[in-house]
Amino acid sequence: MHIFYTPLANGAPRVLPPGESRHCVRVLRLVPGDDITLVDGRGGLYHCRVTRADPDACEVTCIEKIEQHGKRDFSIHLAIAPTKNNERLEWCLEKCTEIGIDEITPLLCEHSERKTVHRERLEKIIIAAMKQSCKAYLPTLHPLAAYRDFIRDTPPAPGYIAHCAPGDRRPLHRACTPATAVTLLVGPEGDFSPAEIRLAIDRGFLPVSLGDSRLRAETAGIVACHTVHLVNAIARPDTPSR
Ligand code: SAM
Repeated sequence: MHIFYTPLANGAPRVLPPGESRHCVRVLRLVPGDDITLVDGRGGLYHCRVTRADPDACEVTCIEKIEQHGKRDFSIHLAIAPTKNNERLEWCLEKCTEIGIDEITPLLCEHSERKTVHRERLEKIIIAAMKQSCKAYLPTLHPLAAYRDFIRDTPPAPGYIAHCAPGDRRPLHRACTPATAVTLLVGPEGDFSPAEIRLAIDRGFLPVSLGDSRLRAETAGIVACHTVHLVNAIARPDTPSR
């Protein structure tokens, strides 16, 4: 199934954006009559058929529209300090998008070794992961935020700060409540500073552990994201998977 991203699809999409048109016609060599799937990044999934294979503006007709495709009753906002190695953060966001995430904020922490992010590149990786995993919702990538500003501006409940410092930390799978809007904080290679941990806890974020292993930041982001999904899956009554 070939999936294309059409952010401007209001109602029944008729023309693919230029980049997607080129991929459809030049790379995949699709022709009129071929079936494709479009997603608009806002929950809309469209089963379509190619009507005019123009590499600059491929025309399609919509056969079926599915609204709120894959909508969940919980959301995840991952605030994570960019790793020194860009590719590790890119890998983390790709995997979290495949698992299912709703918002991402790169965090600038006291121990951050990387103080900039390539937003456009990250955006492309997230879009590709959304398509590859057949999702219709595109995670929101927020601009890089200073940790203190993020903590000040973000409602803490339910929010969890994952850290490796000494102190009480509940396992995330026990602390996390299902069917809520969750904010997860993951620190840099040097971890959060004691002052940053204190600030988050004072604001109402709960300190959590992701297990006994000391995970790399990018691994921690994925584990935290998947743990929230698992908590919600266990809480959900058994429904046969389609
Ligand atoms: N420098 C820290 C140390 O030596 O213990 C490790 C920091 S770790 C590489 C980067 C981030 O991953 C941490 O700030 C935390 O958010 C998260 N993390 C890694 N392992 C974790 C665990 N077992 N429990 C909670 N958070 C963890």
